[in-house]
Amino acid sequence: MCFCCAPASLGRRGLFAAAAAVAALPAWGQTPPASAGPASAALLDDLVAANRILYDQGVVDGFGHVSVRHDTDPNRYLLSRSMAPALVTRDDILEYDLDSVPVDALGRTSYLERFIHGELYKVRPDVIAIVHSHSPAVIPFADTGVKLQPMNHIAGFLGTGVPVFEIRDTAGPATDMLIRNASLGHALAAALGDHTVILMRGHGSVAAARSIRHVVFRAVYTEVNARMEAEALKLGTPIFLNAEEAAAAAKTNDALVDRPWELWKQRAMGKG
Ligand code: MN
Repeated sequence: MCFCCAPASLGRRGLFAAAAAVAALPAWGQTPPASAGPASAALLDDLVAANRILYDQGVVDGFGHVSVRHDTDPNRYLLSRSMAPALVTRDDILEYDLDSVPVDALGRTSYLERFIHGELYKVRPDVIAIVHSHSPAVIPFADTGVKLQPMNHIAGFLGTGVPVFEIRDTAGPATDMLIRNASLGHALAAALGDHTVILMRGHGSVAAARSIRHVVFRAVYTEVNARMEAEALKLGTPIFLNAEEAAAAAKTNDALVDRPWELWKQRAMGKG
């Protein structure tokens, strides 16, 4: 049973009943969720800018994505259709429920890994925005077991620890490494716990924060910190920020994220 072959007379309630009777109903067979209505123009503009900035700063390339919770409904989130982040415009933004089903895709395709976002929003009510990337300096830390730790005050948000997600522990040794369903998304979110950033072995990373601007800050400086740490490890044994220094620095920096945001936005949008 799927949406396209269900009798027209079955109706919404009937479809739900039919869906409940079928185990592992594919996402494309579900009844689309209701819209929370339009998000604010300011939120959409920030989401478009975040896409452009993350590309301009070398965090995303043709791959990677950034999402934000809908500003009038915490059970919806906003994410571009499947496309290169640097090319995203307002018209490309789709609304999803927390099961990562699009409200009205209009034939547009979704990112395979949208479950990273929906499943994390389910378990972290404090998280308002999420970046997933394959930013290159970070991945070696995911692949070697060398811990990513705060090198300087700007990356104090890393001070609570940076876990590494091992997909084999959840899905065995023969996946394509992608978080392509809800159970993998849930496992990733569980591995993140209360932290701000998680690395994904053989893949990339996820950053979470309380706003789009905060999460862009974290995604950019996670990559910068990884570059610095790799350099420092060539020279000797780095002295990292301790937990107290990192927490104090993160608190200070959280009040300052607008400063780099305005700079990055002008640069990235100017190239648009
Ligand atoms: Mn990915």
